[in-house]
Parts: sequence; C-alpha cells; structure tokens
Amino acid sequence: MILLESTKTAAATGARMRRRQEIDGRFKWNLNDIFPDWAAWEASYRTLETRVDEFAALKGTLASGPDALARAFGMSDELGQLAHKVWYYSSLRYDEDQRDNEMNAKRQQVQNLLARLGQASSWFNPELLRIPLETVRGWLDASPDLAPYRFAIEDLYRQQRHVLDDGGERLMSLSSRLAGAPNDAYSALSTADAKFSEVTLSTGETITVSYPQYRRVLATSRNQADRRRAFESLHEVYRANLNTYATLYGSVCQRDWFQARARGYQSSLDAALDGNDIPTSVVENLIAATRAGAAPLRRYHRLRKRVLGLETYHAYDGIIPLVEFNRTYQYPDVLEWIVASVAPLGPQYQASVRRTTENRWIDVYENVGKRSGAYSAPVYGSHPYILMNYNDTLDAVFTLAHEMGHSMHTQLSHAHQPFVYASYTIFVAEVPSTLNEALFLDYMLSRTTDERERIVLLQHAIDDIVGTFYTQVMFADYELQAHRLVEQGKPVTADALGAIYTGLLEAYQGDAVTQDEMAAVTWARIPHFFQMPYYVYQYATCYASTAQLMRGLRSESEAARQDAVARYLALLKSGGSDYPMAQLARAGVDLSQPGPVQAVVDELDRRVTLLEGEMARLGG
Ligand SMILES: [Zn+2]
Repeated sequence: MILLESTKTAAATGARMRRRQEIDGRFKWNLNDIFPDWAAWEASYRTLETRVDEFAALKGTLASGPDALARAFGMSDELGQLAHKVWYYSSLRYDEDQRDNEMNAKRQQVQNLLARLGQASSWFNPELLRIPLETVRGWLDASPDLAPYRFAIEDLYRQQRHVLDDGGERLMSLSSRLAGAPNDAYSALSTADAKFSEVTLSTGETITVSYPQYRRVLATSRNQADRRRAFESLHEVYRANLNTYATLYGSVCQRDWFQARARGYQSSLDAALDGNDIPTSVVENLIAATRAGAAPLRRYHRLRKRVLGLETYHAYDGIIPLVEFNRTYQYPDVLEWIVASVAPLGPQYQASVRRTTENRWIDVYENVGKRSGAYSAPVYGSHPYILMNYNDTLDAVFTLAHEMGHSMHTQLSHAHQPFVYASYTIFVAEVPSTLNEALFLDYMLSRTTDERERIVLLQHAIDDIVGTFYTQVMFADYELQAHRLVEQGKPVTADALGAIYTGLLEAYQGDAVTQDEMAAVTWARIPHFFQMPYYVYQYATCYASTAQLMRGLRSESEAARQDAVARYLALLKSGGSDYPMAQLARAGVDLSQPGPVQAVVDELDRRVTLLEGEMARLGG
C-alpha cells in the first residue's frame, strides 16, 4: 500500500475514463493463474466448506501427542492456502469493476465462509495453550513434522503472558463495543456531520474546501493567498468543534491505557508494540534521533521559501512544486527503467522483476468502476498481482516501483517459507517498497539530462522523506506525549493537545516555518490518531531501515555491496518466520540505535544539497 494516494484521476485531468473492455488485454491482469475458470473456483470453494468441518472435528485431539498436533497444524495450513486462492480470485475480480453485483455477491459468499472458518478454528489456540509449554517443547525436539511450527508455537505462548483468565477475557470482550465508540464518533463528526465551507479563489473559482480540494489547492495554486484561504477554511471546521475532538481523543488515550493496564502492560506504548515484540526504546530512540536531525528539514523549507519568492513561509506552502513540469511517462518505457533500476540487487532479482512485468500480473490502467489506489495482493500458491491506476504521472511511476517492491517481497517469501510464515509483518513490509523507490530514484537521476526533471525528481524524493519519515515521527511523538498525559493522570483538553502540537512544530520545523495559530488544531484533522494509535511510526522505522540498507548497497567496496545484497535478500526470503527486530538485525539494521535514523537525516541532507545546486544552476 501507499500512504498518500494520488488524487489525480482521469476525471481530474479531464480525460474520459475508459470502460474495462476498451483496454488492451496486455494491460489487464490474468487471474487464470489462480483458477482457470469459475467452475474450478466453485470446486475449491466446496472443498474448503467440507474441510472446515473436518478441521472442527479435530477438537479435543491435540493433547494426545506430537502427531496429532502436527496433523492439526498441517490441516490448518491446507485450509489457509485454499482460502487464500478462493478469496483472492473473487476479491480481485470484484476490484476490476466494483459496480458488478454478481462479483460482490461471490466475494461476500467467501467472506461468510472465512468467518465460518474462523469460528471452526477458535478452539485451537486455547486447547494448545492448556498443554504445558515444556511438554510441547519436548514434542518439537522429537517430531520433524512439528518442528517447522516452533516459532509460531513459541510466539503463541509468549503472547499468552498478557491473556487474562476466563472471567477477565469475558469482561474485556464485553467492553469491546465501547472501545470503538470514540473512533465511531470521530468518523461521524469529521465526515457525515462536517460542514465544509465555500471559498472563492483569486481565479474566480468557488470551491467547497473538503480535504481533497484542500490538497488540490495546496499542490497546484501558485497564489499563496489562495493556499492560505483553503488552509484556514478547512481547519476552521475542526476548530469549531475543538473541545469535542479533544474529548474524543482523550477517550482514545483512556481506552488504550485501560486495555494496557488490564493486561498488565507498563504503558499504552508497551501494549501497542508487544504483538511484534518491539521494545519501546525503538520508538523513543526514533523520536529523539529525529528531533536531533531536524536541520536538513529546516534547510529544505528555507530553500523553498527562497525559490518560491515568499515573504513568509507557512504550513500551506510545503507541497507546491518548485518548477512547472508536465512531462508524462508512458508505461512501456517505465517498465524498462524499473527493470534496469534493480540491477544493484543482482541478475536473479532483476529477472524476477522482468517476469512480473511480462506475464500479465499487473492490472495497469484505470477503468470505470475499478478500485482506486494501488496494491500488491499476495496469493500463496499462485503469485502476487499488482493493481495500479496508472495515469502517466511521475507519482504513478513511483507507485509502480513501490508496489513492485511489495511484489518481490511476496515472491521471495512465498518461495522460501511454508504457508505458516509466508506473510510478513507491517513492521518490515514497507522496507522493500521504499527501497525499490530509492533504487528507482537513483536510476532516474543518473539517466536524466533534463535539469527540470532532475529538480522534480529531487523534490519528489525529498517530499517523500518529509511525508513518510519526518511527519510520521512527529505524529508518533504526538501520540506518545498525549498518551503520557493520561498515564500520568493529567487532564486532556483542547489547550493541552494544542500545546503539544505547537511544541512539535517548533521542535521539528523551528523558525523555518511561520507558525500560524490555526496550525495548532492540525491534530484534530489526522484520522490515524483516532483510528490506529501507535501505527504510523512503522512507516518511519521502515524508512530508516531502508536508508541504512541503501548505504550498504551504495558502498564503494564490491565485497561490502555483495554482502549487503545477500543480507537484504535473506530478509525478504525470511517472510514472517521470526520477530521483525531479529530479521532486521540479521540484515544489518539495529533500530534500537540512532544509526538508521542518522542514515535518513544524511540522505535528506544529500538530496537537499543536490537540489540547492540544481536551483542555483537554474538561477533560482
Ligand atoms: Zn506500501
């Protein structure tokens, strides 16, 4: 996935959007690699239905010994693989044209079966956990059939440390409906009940300033007053209900703290990171090292202020392009560049990327009814498929490089891991995608002779670091401070949250950006804070890991480069077979140390220096 989806569509660029049948078959994915036809899908669906009952019949057998346990794990894997194919065949078909009711019905049919599969397997973990761990360890040592499940089993027992007794778990499940209330109320307040205002721009155009319109004005209007109007109009919607937003966010923090304490965690952060066994020092170190590395970020804003010729530089001046540039990128050309750009990862990796581009594994262009955005779908037992809405822009080109990284991760993980470890955690997922983007940028910078294109590429790469790294760290910083208010029994008010946010803007941007009073309400606009606490920091840690890995790949020494490639490919091949910190450590990345963050800071510094040079040559 990508963090910020491009809002440019055929509709926005004025072109008529094509219907799916008007698009050449070469540019549409071929799902026959999953099932040759619906009859084959139907047959697998029926098999899955029968096997769900067979699996449920194993209940009560696990304690009888290693053979029974291995058999149950084996059958669980078979069911999972079958479910993967049955699900993706219907779900990818549906995404081709989401107006298709028949496909939607088939997809829902699978969802119902998967829910039944979940219910029919719910006995498994509790029954296993009733067997003493020492007994199971003895079985693991003795049984080659069971041995592959060692990590999955050990992890299950580890997580058991924070599972309550039956009465406690019952209370937690009874409270789960309440737990979602602050987020539900946030969604209603910020969308259904939000009253966005109209503003008239200097062009005479009158627009209703919803978030997409706000982004459009900030990204396209060369008139600073227009950008300010859009900024103030959008944020006024949040300011008008600021006490309600603060109460809702306070409830999010209270809920997290309740759940953490109920399960015996030291803090909300501790609870949020335990699933992947990440130490809290990773987030604390991430924040401290990024705050210490704010200098190149401020230099970039000062450069922008100078180039854009602005008297004062504000939050709403951060994304307007530095130069006008309207080049389009034709898909067949881009495929060649994407293949060429991964040469540093070796001929085998490069051949796999080429194969991905040549066999109709990618659904390229947008069409009426097609799902928006982009993704890479991992279909175990087949191969990954990439959905794009390719529209010839530079954003779309980088999105393709990004999704190709996910696809390669899936291919290598699926080829080297059994089903139980085939999927990887979000904590490592954005490493190959951002690394592919970094390689692609290097390649594009090396091949272009157009100075405006160089500037656009550099701005794209810098904005990427700002948006995917600095902004996400600042968000994690905010979440940590707000949760700590609650953990220390301090009041959470609109003033208190505003003070945290103002402090952050000063800490990261310093005097490079003029701080408007309205910017202090920005926290109320960020849905992640309400919907996915302590989640987005993972984009930043992935980014830092990538920066560290790229150092190895760009090394002067051939031996060091070879070593870096081998370690990186081993990381991709390891799928979800270990804890992410251990996987990354083997690849040479230690997120408990400031090194990876320093690699991002240095990379930003390098790119800003290059951009300053380009602007000076252009006479900017
Ligand atoms: Zn992604």
